[in-house]
Amino acid sequence: MEISAFHAIRRRVDSAALAVGTTVRLLAVCKHQTDAAVSLLAALGQHAFGENYVQALAVRRERVDAPILEWHLIGGLQSNKCRAAALHADWVQSVDRTAVVRELARHRPESLPPLTVLVQVNIDSESGKSGCTPAIAAALCASIAAQPQLRLRGLMAIPHAATELEDRRRSFAAMRALFERVRPDHADFDTLSMGMSDDFELAIAEGATMVRIGTAVFGARASFSP
Ligand SMILES: *Cc1c(COP(=O)(O)O)cnc(C)c1O
Repeated sequence: MEISAFHAIRRRVDSAALAVGTTVRLLAVCKHQTDAAVSLLAALGQHAFGENYVQALAVRRERVDAPILEWHLIGGLQSNKCRAAALHADWVQSVDRTAVVRELARHRPESLPPLTVLVQVNIDSESGKSGCTPAIAAALCASIAAQPQLRLRGLMAIPHAATELEDRRRSFAAMRALFERVRPDHADFDTLSMGMSDDFELAIAEGATMVRIGTAVFGARASFSP
């Protein structure tokens, strides 16, 4: 990992945010990266890290011994993995159905603060992809708000990897509209997680408050599995 790459991305995130008068959080997506790279980024002040799989997150959290870091699960979640997610994650960004809401709430230990969650929306209605339909997002948010062990913070999306930037812009804008529509119903609803290495500036221009960036921060993924 190049230290300069991280600083360059941090600057690009900040200036894109400044252009629209917001602040944007950077989630460093560290799937398949080395522990050394994660530790280095943490030493540079990066706070939030994302993994795709529950098991990878749990192992990573244990090995990168830095208690103040914040760990986000960003990959699709099967019901039988909810217990581990509720034990090991600080945030789950991929909540997309009521069974997952119920299982996360049931397994979040009383000794931990409520689990922060985002509702993942399949904004382009792609078949076989994680995320709820835009039509049920508000109802799913309401079911989360009813669970004291969960803390609803907003929405997440992975738009269709369109080659046309205008198509992606339309998906981001649709997410923002949905976010603004649901927001008045919930006190802590402040996070719109969208944008990755190749489109985060566009996502920020369209209202993202958190971007999830892997390769642009770490370099190409090593074939490293924890
Ligand atoms: C891998 C991943 C990212 C980061 O992707 P890059 O293109 O490497 O920036 C963001 N979000 C999710 C859900 C991912 O799985």
